[in-house]
Amino acid sequence: MNVVEKNSWTLMPAAPGLCPECATEHPPEVPHNFWSAYYHVRFTLMNGRAPTVDDSMSHCTPEMRDRWIKAMNAVERMNAVEEENKLSD
Ligand SMILES: [Zn+2]
Repeated sequence: MNVVEKNSWTLMPAAPGLCPECATEHPPEVPHNFWSAYYHVRFTLMNGRAPTVDDSMSHCTPEMRDRWIKAMNAVERMNAVEEENKLSD
């Protein structure tokens, strides 16, 4: 029987041209793709804990973080309105 020991597997590097941390194509100044499974696995292997949204923005300027947070909040508000509309139909 093959036994895979805990933490014994290896994560392959991201494909050339993609961000090496989240395996997504994005400019270096914007946050990593927090929803990328690659980002979660890599971060957890490197840090011993799951990443947070703040971790995905840790390399960004304060201005970029503010813009990103405002954009995420706008998407959340749009999703909430969409859900309310579905409930009222
Ligand atoms: Zn990235």
